[in-house]
Amino acid sequence: MSRIAYVNGAYVPMSEACVHIDDRGYQFADGVYEGVSVRRGKLIDLEPHLDRLWRSLGELQMMAPMDRGPMRLVLKEVVRRNRIKDGFLYLQITRGVAPRDHPFPAQTPWPAMVVTAKRLNFDAVMDRAMTQGVAGSSQPDIRWGRCDVKSTSLLPNILAKQAAREAGAFEAIMVDRDGYVTEGSSTNIWMVTKDGTLVTRSTDDNILPGITRASVMKVARDLQMKVEERAFTLEEAKGAAEMFLTSSTSCAMPIVSLDGQKIGDGTPGPVAKRLVEAYKAFMDA
Ligand code: PMP
Repeated sequence: MSRIAYVNGAYVPMSEACVHIDDRGYQFADGVYEGVSVRRGKLIDLEPHLDRLWRSLGELQMMAPMDRGPMRLVLKEVVRRNRIKDGFLYLQITRGVAPRDHPFPAQTPWPAMVVTAKRLNFDAVMDRAMTQGVAGSSQPDIRWGRCDVKSTSLLPNILAKQAAREAGAFEAIMVDRDGYVTEGSSTNIWMVTKDGTLVTRSTDDNILPGITRASVMKVARDLQMKVEERAFTLEEAKGAAEMFLTSSTSCAMPIVSLDGQKIGDGTPGPVAKRLVEAYKAFMDA
């Protein structure tokens, strides 16, 4: 018997169960989930799982695709259709399908919902618990400190971008616990000191090594500009002569204000403008 999945309103064989490639869960990990154990056909702790699910949805400003009553029915129906006695039920809800862009979609899509269930032998689990137990291996908790990896786990980035958009800004300038600027939610951040030195955080410091960052750095050095790779604080950035961001879609884009405060005179500065021209020549070469 083929396993049956619930996908956006339909019960379908696993082989036909698919989601859209523009689903924000697939593109950004912009979704939440629950896993519920099933023992003798009963969903264990279903209500606390639903409580946590509703809380997670609320924290991400996501709608529930249905009320709790119909959701209980769907979950039980997936267990029934898969003839699960002892097993594990998996439920995932994502923000839905929208053209790929970090901020929440302007037109809220209908959340996408997927439910699957599989068999799990709880008697064997209990047996192991009584006789063997398991081994552990200590690992640093780096969730998600590996910003140097261009991973699709972008939920923190989209939440930062959305907060910046709600504050009327184009980009989120992210600051670490010590008050130092790391990078933008989808860009690298630079400042220009009063003496004309370009400063951007070094790539061993948990930022994405931007390709545009590297090209702009080369262009700047070709123009005999001084470039320093070091950490700088938010305060230092706010007092800088200029700021700009780099990314494949923004080239070198002046940041003219930060937290409502003008950077320099609040217009694109001469250093950034020179870089934009030189970067344009590099692109057109
Ligand atoms: N930082 C982050 C977190 C990014 O997602 C990106 C790319 N969108 C960048 C920096 C800029 O990288 P690139 O210049 O390679 O586009």
